[in-house]
Amino acid sequence: MASDHILILTTDFDLGRTVASLLPSGYTVEILATLERLTADQGEAAPPALVILDLALLAETAVPAGLSRPLTQFPILLLHHPPAELAFLNAWLPYLKVLGIATPPFAREVNRALIATALEHTPRYIQQRQLEENLASANQQLNQRLQEINIIYTVGKSVASSLQVNEVLERVLNAALNFTQAEEGFILLREGDQLFLRAAKNVQESLIQRFNDEVSDSIAWRVIHSGRPVMLKRETKIVTGYLAQALLYVPLRTPERGNTGVLGVVNRLQEDGFTEAQLFTLSAIADFVAIALDNARLFSAVEAERSRIRTILRHAAEAILVVDSQSRLLLWSQTAGEIFQLPDDAEGQPVEQAITHPQLLELIGAAGGPDGIAHAEIELDDARTFNCQLTIIEPLGRVVVMQDITHLKELDRLKSEFVSTVSHDLRTPLTTIQGYIALLTRVGPLTPQQQSFIHKALNSLDQITNLISDLLDIGRIEAGYDLEMHPLRLDRLLVEATQSMTGQVEQAGLALHWTPSSEPLWVMGNPRRLRQVLENLISNAIKYNRRGGWIKVEGRRDGSHIIVRVRDNGIGIPLEEQLHLFERFYRIQTPETEDIRGTGLGLAIVKSVIEKHKGRAWVESSPGEGSTFSFILPVLPEVPQK
Ligand code: ADP
Repeated sequence: MASDHILILTTDFDLGRTVASLLPSGYTVEILATLERLTADQGEAAPPALVILDLALLAETAVPAGLSRPLTQFPILLLHHPPAELAFLNAWLPYLKVLGIATPPFAREVNRALIATALEHTPRYIQQRQLEENLASANQQLNQRLQEINIIYTVGKSVASSLQVNEVLERVLNAALNFTQAEEGFILLREGDQLFLRAAKNVQESLIQRFNDEVSDSIAWRVIHSGRPVMLKRETKIVTGYLAQALLYVPLRTPERGNTGVLGVVNRLQEDGFTEAQLFTLSAIADFVAIALDNARLFSAVEAERSRIRTILRHAAEAILVVDSQSRLLLWSQTAGEIFQLPDDAEGQPVEQAITHPQLLELIGAAGGPDGIAHAEIELDDARTFNCQLTIIEPLGRVVVMQDITHLKELDRLKSEFVSTVSHDLRTPLTTIQGYIALLTRVGPLTPQQQSFIHKALNSLDQITNLISDLLDIGRIEAGYDLEMHPLRLDRLLVEATQSMTGQVEQAGLALHWTPSSEPLWVMGNPRRLRQVLENLISNAIKYNRRGGWIKVEGRRDGSHIIVRVRDNGIGIPLEEQLHLFERFYRIQTPETEDIRGTGLGLAIVKSVIEKHKGRAWVESSPGEGSTFSFILPVLPEVPQK
């Protein structure tokens, strides 16, 4: 809306009145003898429809020193009359929007027309001015927004790139102060119902000393509880204990933990308050900060956990190695580091590069059982033996725990040596006792009771002799004595073994079926021990059977292995017992097995012998239905020409 006010600026009041008489009706007129109205700040007031300006007044007045903006909001008509010269206009011209110049005599019709035309242009001019102003202010706003977004982006990027809490706080404070031009800034973080000063910039020395002490700041609590920023422009007592002229507090909030603190900027001396735009930007920065702080906190929690695990691992007595899913070394205990001479910077190295022990590498690369576990016994160059367990933790990696069992091995060896020596020394007197008891029947007639006692004594002696001979055997097998190996035909050994057992089979009322192999079964082995294995298995199939039952023996080639099976339809073995059968002295105690004689060493001998032949033995069985004992041996790759 155009104004209906016209300003005539001249020191010549008569001239002013003359010009006023030329104005069309409907306008209010004001005649002033100074330029002040033009140069003073108009505030929100609408500019006059027209300013009629006496050049003589301009000529008397210098352009004010502080005038920085053009006075173009005023449409101006100049009155030019001698002796004022047009040249006076030059200094003012950049600041004025001159629509025309009226010359004397002023009461002329031509000047009236000039004023009318100027007034006609005025609304359009004012409209254009307003548009320009709007555009300029929109531009300014846009620029400001861009600047704010830029600040938010820069701060966001900068804080997100750091995982150190203190660094994040420092960066944020710097950005907040730079952007708001505030005198001071600080960050308060909440822990439970306490508030702590965690970062500060430009604050007094006394405040810095309060770091890590609880602080009280009711405005900060208000921000935390309401989740809304607070902007004040008056003397306010704040955390710092002194008065602030203006402050802006914004909440630090995270999606997970809610409002966790306050980012505050303060002007202690200047009275300048903060703006809405600054509030908006600071809030956006605070949102970034809270998330970055959360990340940093999580990171340091993970780091602390990691270093705890590392410390525990480092001090574990066992040798422990952890590799990731790409087989790169992740962690290791000090013991493992010493054994494999791992340098401190071995972390992240491929395990084959850091460790050269072939057996250990084989274990680390092993497939693991259904439970993701594998075992191996590893001997080091310094003659120490380790029992190693590999645990596969999908998808993270693999852990190997190594236990030094050198002393256990030594104990085991000493024990076997002792048993073997004692057994050996027992055998001679036992044979003597056996001989003399057998002689008793020859030296004179015996009563039936004496005969029964002798029979029992001989039976017990038999049992002891068997036990001793089994003990001696297992000792010798484990120590590797009497184990010379040479190429032999297992199919022939099978025939011999089954034939030697036929007497016992018949006596037990059983049937023995032998399935011959279609091809010779060559293995590298010790015939005496392999025959002992076959006899032990067949003998068990006889002992743990029932009259009328059967035994089936077969041997055949299966790829690169020879597989031998001894099956029976005897009493069978419960699943939980099957695990222990191959242990020394393990016997199943049931009413069914009570009267069956044995030493509990037969299957231990089988396992030992087969393992010495690089094979494996196992059992499958169902109680009441029967059992199948099997073993495999590697096929001899090159068959001797015989
Ligand atoms: P033992 O001298 O007691 O026979 P072994 O080591 O040969 O010792 O066998 C251990 C235990 O395994 C036996 O006591 C028996 O309970 C069980 N066993 C072995 N073979 C069979 C089988 N064929 N059927 C059922 N149980 C068996």
